[in-house]
Amino acid sequence: MTEAPRLPTDRFSRPLRSLRLSVTDRCNLRCTYCMPEPDYEWLPRSDILDFDELERLTRAFASVGVDRVRLTGGEPLLRRDLPELVDRLAKIEGIEELALTTNGILLPAQGPALREAGLDRVTVSLDTLRAERFQAIAQRDEHGRVLRGIEAARELGFPVKLNAVVVRGFNEDEIIPLLEYAREQGAELRFIEYMDVGGATQWRSEQVVSQDEILATIERCFGSVQPKVVRESAPATRFVLQDGTVFGVIASTTKPFCATCDRARITADGTLLTCLYGRLGVDVRAWLRGPKTDEQIREDLARLWRERRDRGAEQRLGIAERAPLAKAEELRGNPHLEMHTRGG
Ligand code: SAM
Ligand code: SF4
Ligand code: SF4
Repeated sequence: MTEAPRLPTDRFSRPLRSLRLSVTDRCNLRCTYCMPEPDYEWLPRSDILDFDELERLTRAFASVGVDRVRLTGGEPLLRRDLPELVDRLAKIEGIEELALTTNGILLPAQGPALREAGLDRVTVSLDTLRAERFQAIAQRDEHGRVLRGIEAARELGFPVKLNAVVVRGFNEDEIIPLLEYAREQGAELRFIEYMDVGGATQWRSEQVVSQDEILATIERCFGSVQPKVVRESAPATRFVLQDGTVFGVIASTTKPFCATCDRARITADGTLLTCLYGRLGVDVRAWLRGPKTDEQIREDLARLWRERRDRGAEQRLGIAERAPLAKAEELRGNPHLEMHTRGG
């Protein structure tokens, strides 16, 4: 009997469990914390991984320990025939959870086919309940469609999470209304601290609303909140209100969770990133389009993970005068640094 190969852990003993797969860098919104510039350089279409390549790569990741896959983008629902990809990925042995992060606009149209194909859960980004404010944040008049997308996901029976990036001067006065809306929808809300990632060229530290501040606002309204420990590697710290409502905070800027980070990212053109803040990625498209066997790809992934030392957000904590990670000129020459390319 052959012995099963040992699953790799990185230099800080972190396993590889979670994969964020970006299926497109295109988007139908222009959120000012993610895509504030007037125009963008897109990844060449011929470089975008096709479904055979994505399936093969996901199988390789599953063989080195990944059991959770999240489809993202850009806006993943812009990728043609996405349900077909979901169907293929859901069947891969070892993948226990297949999720989607979306802005929700196309969910009413595509939700049923995605559910049918085997998608397990959906996260919709929703930063405001006000249509005019949505227009200011997302630079598109699509608020009604996002709300209809959330309702559609719920009606289809998906477990739904909502992501709200809290930016001072934009929406910090909606912490309580968003929490109440999520509770009505039976969805778990996660507040996300504004991150100084690539793409966020307008980031300023004064605009970050910290986890401490978010919790203080909630406690003033609902009384004390308790931490809820579920799974240590999840990016969100979860809390529970006295009435049992659960919510999360992703405190990447003020309380990074690098110590338990078990995720890898693949851009739509097959660049592997072992950290959201990493400058350089590895071109796995070349592996997929070259002579490597499945076993060689598996070994290369395992080797890369064993060499991993990333703790990008923790390192940024040590910077006294924090400014955006990358300037607009640099992003124009290197779209791989962009948040909408990396998938968040
Ligand atoms: N388009 C989809 C969406 O918006 O849900 C998926 C891709 S988007 C890049 C993934 C997540 O990244 C979203 O929840 C978005 O709010 C978050 N995000 C983008 N830029 C951010 C920033 N500067 N700080 C914190 N979160 C950010
Ligand atoms: Fe907004 Fe997501 Fe599009 Fe970025 S990728 S602009 S967060 S909808
Ligand atoms: Fe993981 Fe990098 Fe984010 Fe830290 S900054 S949690 S290592 S992706």
